[in-house]
Amino acid sequence: MYRNAFSAFSVNIATLCRRWIWGLAGARRAAELGASTAVIESHKLGGTCVNVGCVPKKVMWNAAVHAEVAHDRADYGYLGGNAQFSWHMLKSKRDAYVGRLNQIYQGNLDKANIESIHGLASFTDDPEPTVEVNGKKYTAPHILIATGGRPSVLSDNDIPGANLGITSDGFFELDTLPKRSVIVGAGYIAVEMAGILSTLGSKTSVIIRQGEVLRNFDSFISASCTRELENAGIELWRNTQVKSVRKMNQGLEVTLVTRDPEKKEEDKIGVLDEVDCLLWAIGREPNTNGLNISHMGVEVDEKGHIVVDEFQNTTRQGIYAVGDVCGKALLTPVAIAAGRKLAHRLFENKPESKVDYSNIPTVVFAHPPIGTVGLTEEEAIKSWGKENLKTYQTSFTPMYHAVTTRKTQCAMKLICVGKEEKVVGLHMQGLGCDEMLQGFAVAIRMGATKADFDNTIAIHPTSSEELVTMR
Ligand code: NDP
Repeated sequence: MYRNAFSAFSVNIATLCRRWIWGLAGARRAAELGASTAVIESHKLGGTCVNVGCVPKKVMWNAAVHAEVAHDRADYGYLGGNAQFSWHMLKSKRDAYVGRLNQIYQGNLDKANIESIHGLASFTDDPEPTVEVNGKKYTAPHILIATGGRPSVLSDNDIPGANLGITSDGFFELDTLPKRSVIVGAGYIAVEMAGILSTLGSKTSVIIRQGEVLRNFDSFISASCTRELENAGIELWRNTQVKSVRKMNQGLEVTLVTRDPEKKEEDKIGVLDEVDCLLWAIGREPNTNGLNISHMGVEVDEKGHIVVDEFQNTTRQGIYAVGDVCGKALLTPVAIAAGRKLAHRLFENKPESKVDYSNIPTVVFAHPPIGTVGLTEEEAIKSWGKENLKTYQTSFTPMYHAVTTRKTQCAMKLICVGKEEKVVGLHMQGLGCDEMLQGFAVAIRMGATKADFDNTIAIHPTSSEELVTMR
């Protein structure tokens, strides 16, 4: 029994599941605030983000940026030199880095006197919320579920041969750069993985069900990202789906059919062969199976996400949930913030402590990267009416490309509301937009207007100056 305790646990229900770091963030803050705390984890500490998500992905994205710069070197006057890329070496260094992070997290738990319990947890039938791990029972007045999610997979019943493909988890196990990659999906992960593989030299195709990628983003960004994928040499199959996958001598054979809602018959439109990496990036699912929470009175929605209120309370008193397992804003920093806010509410007597889910900035590490914060134009129209909006947008070739043969575009858009033109949405794709976003997100959070942007002296010559000079 943990008195006044906070038990942030991650439950694994299958060996493939990975969890996220925010359970740790909430646990550490709870411990700092004096709560006796334990963390239950069945795999490596750090969850998806550290082990099979943001962290190793960013290493790979950085490697891909090197490939782009290597391409541009001659245009900048660096003649000669043809360094070979070693996937194997990079993977070893990346895995070692992740291993160091796992150790750092364990050290942080130990320093904070948080008990680490290794194993799978599931709720028992006891009257008070109790979990069992390796045959031993644990209970606490406050139990936080932070079990994260896992990649959605299709079965061979959905698509024959589907299980010959991998997911983003499998991407991080690849020992060599695939020669021929096919990515199915149109979200963050499909865009990021396709960009990395293609830029590093794999011939890459992306299969999307509709006309554009990132359809949940502002349509300006969907269009820009779709254009840049093709500009980078990625083959895009629009309105297409996979009919079947077969293992052949030379690799996989992926048969594609149209996905035209107008047509009753699916037309076979292509066969991709000699594929050595078929990657499904079709969304993620919550890790709630096996938690045994339904009998606890913890409500889940039809997709299995845990239903929580704005304070991360589940429908059962004393049980809370944060992060991807709740299905809202699947982003590591959101979950970290939610875990910490919850700890302050429970252990520092701050009853109003909660995360504000509006104006969350996010970056897609595409090539070039995408940064976005606030409402899309479509959302702003719904909230404010088209007549109350004014949008500004621009597209240009960044100065970096003035002397390069390879080109990318920078596209930027501001969405402003009312007479005062309060900026409620900022969307951009271009070199440097990943690092550009954070500061603008602060300004937007503080209620900046277009006039505030205009009155800020530009930094020249940069791409970001365009955001304060738009007309
Ligand atoms: P997303 O939900 O972003 O996208 C998945 C997309 O795949 C869907 O929107 C859908 O697009 C398409 N899709 C779904 N089912 C199928 C199918 N059967 N066949 C073909 N296409 C299909 O999921 P991701 O897995 O890319 O990412 C999950 C979440 O992880 C993201 O929402 C994000 O919050 C987080 N993440 C964040 C990152 C970051 O911060 N940089 C990086 C990676 C992930 P459509 O309807 O257009 O067909």
